[in-house]
Amino acid sequence: MSAAGPRLLVVEDEDATRRSLVTYLTRRDYRVLEAASAADALRCWDANRPDLILLDLGLPDLDGVEVIRRVRRDATTPIIILSARGDERDRIAGLEAGADDYLGKPFAVDELNARIRAVLRRAGGRDSQPDGRLRLGPVELDPLRREVRVGETQARLTPREFELLKVLLSNQGRLVTRERLLRAVWGVAYADASQYLHVYVSRLRRKLAEAGAGTLAERLFVTETGIGYRVADADSLAGVET
Ligand code: CA
Repeated sequence: MSAAGPRLLVVEDEDATRRSLVTYLTRRDYRVLEAASAADALRCWDANRPDLILLDLGLPDLDGVEVIRRVRRDATTPIIILSARGDERDRIAGLEAGADDYLGKPFAVDELNARIRAVLRRAGGRDSQPDGRLRLGPVELDPLRREVRVGETQARLTPREFELLKVLLSNQGRLVTRERLLRAVWGVAYADASQYLHVYVSRLRRKLAEAGAGTLAERLFVTETGIGYRVADADSLAGVET
């Protein structure tokens, strides 16, 4: 472990993959803890309370989703799932259990670093405003006045569109599953109506674009096919590399 930087717990049972991750992350000034099984991971998490967990879902002793559930019983520690292709149902289960994001294997390490920084920023509470307003790029949502503005222009949203945008803007830097959005905005009965959601998100993007967000509207919440929407945050929109 190096001396400075956030502490990450890397949970991966494949030795070569884990070692290369540890090497890369240590070089980026993270302090890295490692675990090769779910039992190890939970022990290490209990002993060290790291700032973020990178979690492979296919572990030899216990389903990674179960690790997420156990961590979430006690803590909001950010979790990024690292999962192999074809594990879409596991990814959704992991996100539903409380993971913040996922990255499909194989992934580019720079992309991993960008995701790590996004969820750490979010965990640091940088997106919350003292006045309760939610802001992302030029978009500002005022929950008390139930207003949405893009710059100076008011966007005319329906109550459902407003709720949808509110849930999305409350999850900056995270991946929100379709099921979660449907439940939050329409209720349990609509949890399977993902086509419905697609239509609403398209309409919401169009209204924000027309109110002045232009092509930036496409980047506010990016479709993650079959899973949900990845919400940008201020730094990812600006393309800032810090
Ligand atoms: Ca594995």
